[in-house]
Amino acid sequence: MANQQTQQKQIVTSGIRPTGELHLGNYYGALLNLTRLQDQYDAYFFIVDLHSLTTHPNSADLRRNLIGVARDYVAAGLDPEKCALYAQSSISDLIGELHTYLSMVMPLGELLRCPTFKEKAKKHPDNINYGLVGYPVLMAADILIHKGTLVPVGEDQVVHLEMARTIVRRFQQIYGDLFPEPQPLIENAVRIPALSGQGKMSKSDARDSYISMRDESDQIQAKVKKAYSDPARVYKHQPGHPTIEGCNIYHLHSFFTEADLLDGLAAQCQQAAIGCADCKHHLATSLTSIVEPFRERRAQVSDDDVVDILTIGGQKARASAELVLAEVRSAMGLRTF
Ligand code: ATP
Ligand code: MG
Repeated sequence: MANQQTQQKQIVTSGIRPTGELHLGNYYGALLNLTRLQDQYDAYFFIVDLHSLTTHPNSADLRRNLIGVARDYVAAGLDPEKCALYAQSSISDLIGELHTYLSMVMPLGELLRCPTFKEKAKKHPDNINYGLVGYPVLMAADILIHKGTLVPVGEDQVVHLEMARTIVRRFQQIYGDLFPEPQPLIENAVRIPALSGQGKMSKSDARDSYISMRDESDQIQAKVKKAYSDPARVYKHQPGHPTIEGCNIYHLHSFFTEADLLDGLAAQCQQAAIGCADCKHHLATSLTSIVEPFRERRAQVSDDDVVDILTIGGQKARASAELVLAEVRSAMGLRTF
């Protein structure tokens, strides 16, 4: 069986919610991996606008963010010739149908115990909707609609993928061997910290806690200037603590600043020969050198370009999804005439 699985063509699937502007964490932790994966596998990358409705029910924001995130994806290097890039809603009829079938095999208790459901319910106590409980089932439909075998995930998504695997096993017990069990792909598990020093960068947090991939150089300088640094260094004449635990600015430098320059800054910091303001200026310059070329590439991609790309991607996704759904209907004994 294992041998059979490794010989199968690998199909990689990955989705992102259009809930805001992509930031350096998304870029480093997710987008860069996807550009590599599209070269190696049969790739389906989608913007999960249906998933956004569980917590962000604002139609104007959703329309704007869908196009905005698609432009970010193309600017990051996703190539419509190499992958299918599409909006989940462009195959909502097929995804919705598969979601209904999968909901019949997913145990309710597991969904209610899911830690991400509990977290979201706590965060949005006035909007604990049915869709929020079924979120992992909808995510399983996104993967299984193409018989996905590999799913790049961050720590937060591992539990959802485990539920997709539960669904596959239960489906198999009842209807036979149709879906492969999707495997997590945890390759580049970086976690870029927030500028505030509180947790990781997140696009749904305050704007000054993350660097958006759309920020201009002076915005980056201003945000970094206010960022949390070494709490134990109150005055410039005191030596600092340039370690990942000791200083949030050093932690950020460690991802984005060249090693030689960073070693030099750290040595000067330990001798109190450089102040936090200068060190932050260097960090902002490093961040700008990553964001600026991205912004330039993004400016070359128009809204019309991404509408074309998403349309073609939607057609590719539909062709693949139709084939799988026909097999599912038949396996479940549903009307095929
Ligand atoms: P939200 O606040 O809406 O949850 P987010 O910034 O956490 O947004 P997601 O859409 O949840 O972003 O995640 C998209 C991808 O980016 C995932 O693969 C996730 O693992 C990755 N990612 C998110 N934040 C970071 C971060 N700070 N560092 C590294 N990777 C990240
Ligand atoms: Mg998140």
